[in-house]
Amino acid sequence: SIVVTGATGHLGRLVVEQLLEKVPAGEITAVVRDKDRAAGFAERGVRIAVADYNAPETFDGLFAAGDKVLLISGNEVANDRPRQHKTVIDAAAAAGVALLAYTSAPSSLKARLADDHRATERTLLDSGLPWVILGNGWYHENHTGNIPAYLEQGAILQAAGEGRISSAARADYAAAAVAVLTGEGHENKRYELGGDQAWSFAEFAAELSRRTGREVAVRSVSVEEYARALVATGLPEPVAAVLADSDASIEKGELVVTSGDLARLIGRPTTPVTEAIEAALAG
Ligand code: NDP
Repeated sequence: SIVVTGATGHLGRLVVEQLLEKVPAGEITAVVRDKDRAAGFAERGVRIAVADYNAPETFDGLFAAGDKVLLISGNEVANDRPRQHKTVIDAAAAAGVALLAYTSAPSSLKARLADDHRATERTLLDSGLPWVILGNGWYHENHTGNIPAYLEQGAILQAAGEGRISSAARADYAAAAVAVLTGEGHENKRYELGGDQAWSFAEFAAELSRRTGREVAVRSVSVEEYARALVATGLPEPVAAVLADSDASIEKGELVVTSGDLARLIGRPTTPVTEAIEAALAG
């Protein structure tokens, strides 16, 4: 079976959808926390397994020898994600799966949010399992999701200076995962994944202005000021701190990926950010 964890998340849903185009539904297992949220997949013949990264016993017997597994990193940043991910890796190793691919971050990213990924990569390499590290770069959606706020404020508030970002669409990263899960020869490889073109917030703002006819400025602030602004919008303080810290990494160019791995894996150019902006504006 091809087993996908986090299958009801944004990335996981795209992976399962794209797998359904390539392999029979009965060969796909979606690992979810809430069965009801996977009803659409179940109706189409996808096997559903209910498990929680926080409960090791829920992974007992979930994997079978020969499975190919995609471990999608969790989103509970305040929780111990390395321990959560180790739970999945240990269960996969005990079962003797054929491959475990993990959604990590590019190796250039030194931001605090990459720490959990580095720890998980070590666990995976120590597990003895055939591994693949998908060094996923930034999603377009991290920014296109903020377009309503950017337009409302007439500005993009950021702490990344002139920094550039090689983002790609979530669907592009999903396609890369699917290529690894359904293809051959990916064992023990690390891919540095990002969009073909890097962009700056100034370019993002200009594109937004051009398409909407509204003025969108770029307001550059310090990392501390940005973190305070994020807290003011209602984000919990630790989350705001981690996000603001990522902007510092963007300024240093840590989210620029030039490997070409993503386009190569998916066999087509990555989705341009301009296209993602257009799609977001079209609603
Ligand atoms: P989502 O937040 O949409 O999905 C996270 C998934 O992880 C969900 O399916 C969630 O389950 C699952 N999950 C979280 N905690 C647990 C747990 N304790 N046990 C089982 N499953 C759990 O994120 P995306 O799909 O957009 O992105 C995937 C991952 O990529 C994120 O979790 C994060 O690690 C990382 N990320 C990367 C970004 C980037 O720009 N590259 C940006 C943001 C995140 P459920 O559906 O039940 O909630």
